[in-house]
Amino acid sequence: MRAVDLHTHSNCSDGTYSVKELMDYAHEKNLAAIALTDHDTVDGLDEAIEYVSEKYPDMELVPGIEFSTVEEGKDVHIVGLYIDHHKESFVEKLQQFINSRTNRNIKMCKKLTEEAGIPITYEALLSSFPGAVITRAHYAQYMVENELVGSRSEVFDKYIGDNCPYYIEREKISPEEGISYILEAGGVPILAHPILYHMSDRKLDALVARLKGAGLKGIEAIYSTYSSAEERQVKELAAKYDLVISGGSDFHGANKPDIDLGCGRGKLFLPEDVLIPIKDARK
Ligand code: AMP
Ligand code: ZN
Ligand code: FE
Ligand code: FE
Repeated sequence: MRAVDLHTHSNCSDGTYSVKELMDYAHEKNLAAIALTDHDTVDGLDEAIEYVSEKYPDMELVPGIEFSTVEEGKDVHIVGLYIDHHKESFVEKLQQFINSRTNRNIKMCKKLTEEAGIPITYEALLSSFPGAVITRAHYAQYMVENELVGSRSEVFDKYIGDNCPYYIEREKISPEEGISYILEAGGVPILAHPILYHMSDRKLDALVARLKGAGLKGIEAIYSTYSSAEERQVKELAAKYDLVISGGSDFHGANKPDIDLGCGRGKLFLPEDVLIPIKDARK
């Protein structure tokens, strides 16, 4: 049985591989399917779909996205698989969300320039990272490359870490909103890497119960950093709430150098038959 990877990032968000490089690498790894799940953007999907259908007919491209949502002040990620990313109502909602990020970036650049004496503009960020949704990871790379700071850690310790003076929050959506966006696009909403939220068992159970009520259909039970006990724990949750099992490496190229496509830290394996219940969950 071949492997699949249902959680990956390109340089349309904060990965370092271009869409084509990522697809070439997925094929080299003999994956039966790869989902492109960039953070809060579908910009890479058309290119991925076209490239894979022309060049790699033996590999399936699953159109996806990963929404950053907030639950009690902490990040909770919702992955969407098999989304119809051209559906008008979905595109409109996503655009509003992206506009709010743009406004935040303009404000954060102004604050860094005027108050911290770090000359940085949104236009400069855009021309350094053409086509990307600009996140703080891009600020860090830009500030280091342009020698505005000594190191990447300085960026988050002194300037734009969560509790730093020049940090500006981005507009936040709830996990339920993320789920509703994905359902709007006809996709399968999946709770990403629940173990990474470090919630108590009771709290995680309550969150899953609530999100199931909001339309959640799957959960990532197989993930690069999980121990086998953690994988078992998430599989039990999936069974309890009748959720399909998904997962993946969360490949980011050089931005997460210890994590490889398809096989994570070496022993990750998602058999291709996980796709059958995921496809069924679309209906
Ligand atoms: P944003 O969504 O624009 O708020 O940026 C979030 C991204 O910034 C994350 O995905 C990380 O890549 C990066 N980031 C945020 N805080 C830190 C930190 N303390 N250290 C390193 N990277 C961070
Ligand atoms: Zn990421
Ligand atoms: Fe994530
Ligand atoms: Fe991710």
